Amino acid sequence: MKRQRRALLAWYDANKRDLPWRRTRDPYAIWVSETMLQQTRVDSVIPYYERFLKRFPDIEALASADSDDVLGCWAGLGYYSRARNLKAAAQLLADSHGGRMPDDVDELRSLPGIGRYTAGAVASIAFDRAAPIVDGNVARVLARLLGIREDIKQPDVVKQLWAEAEGLAQGPRPGDLNQALMELGALICTPAEPGCGRCPLRKDCDAHARGDAASLPIKQKKPKAKRVEAAAGWLVRRGKVLAVRRPPEGLLGGLWELPGGDLERREEPAAGWTRNLRERVGLTVARAEYVGSIEHLFTHRRLELHLFRSDPPTGRTRLDGFDAHQWLAPNALAELPISSLTRKALAALGVALPQAVSRAK
Ligand code: SF4
Repeated sequence: MKRQRRALLAWYDANKRDLPWRRTRDPYAIWVSETMLQQTRVDSVIPYYERFLKRFPDIEALASADSDDVLGCWAGLGYYSRARNLKAAAQLLADSHGGRMPDDVDELRSLPGIGRYTAGAVASIAFDRAAPIVDGNVARVLARLLGIREDIKQPDVVKQLWAEAEGLAQGPRPGDLNQALMELGALICTPAEPGCGRCPLRKDCDAHARGDAASLPIKQKKPKAKRVEAAAGWLVRRGKVLAVRRPPEGLLGGLWELPGGDLERREEPAAGWTRNLRERVGLTVARAEYVGSIEHLFTHRRLELHLFRSDPPTGRTRLDGFDAHQWLAPNALAELPISSLTRKALAALGVALPQAVSRAK
């Protein structure tokens, strides 16, 4: 292991990318970056990271921020529970830890949204603790290095990967060592075409020796995304358009969107939209004009969203399944925290959108 550590650190020093979160040891900034990087590509994260830290430069600023502002800064990055958990954890730290990040893995893991990976990343990168991390990149490198030819999601394989990462972290510069493993997975030990000829670990690598690196790691196929149809639309009364907010928990929680909902089996989209308006916002429309449909892929759902405009509705707004509503000037909706799905819907409806930073989901 000593040789592997040495080789990894030397390779990392010579080849690491210059990324904004690598120019700081501030635990808060590292926590924000590691949270954003979960399930999101580096190049998509950079503008969000820079904007977020400018707006909320420390734990106190995030703890006292308005939730809508935090979600607004996250809008387009996807997996919004990450932003809600960051804010909740910042509040806890401000209230009970003097606004400071703990340096201990167990204490970090007791905070909302911080799992084993993020705790290990913050503890090792910001505080030089000998804490391991295993993300997708590290798992691929280690599975190949060790020649693991079983499904890497199996509990005993997961245990083996963490134990190996833990062993590797027990040396000098554990934060850099962890980042070296991740960087190697991102730049050299890539999924389809590992560059074994340029790899600092090739002398010890079982998959390289056996020539089956590209077929590892073994992963069970993900179930196919379920196809779902929904309808939503543009509802205007006295020059103001209706926006509704999802409850804080669940998919797209806390974000604003156009009123609507899922279709029932074999339901016509126009009938589905008017039914959802009746049931979920208490309003009735006499006529629904179809504008078009858009597709959006969530982790487990492939959504087809049918879009409508209608005559002014009748009735009093009564919410079911949303937790707030506003009647807004038409262009103001795009200023609220909205998902990239709602941005797409507004664009399809011909609503002018302010410039957004590049998006991941
Ligand atoms: S030698 Fe090849 S397969 Fe092994 S760790 Fe390096 S890049 Fe990955």
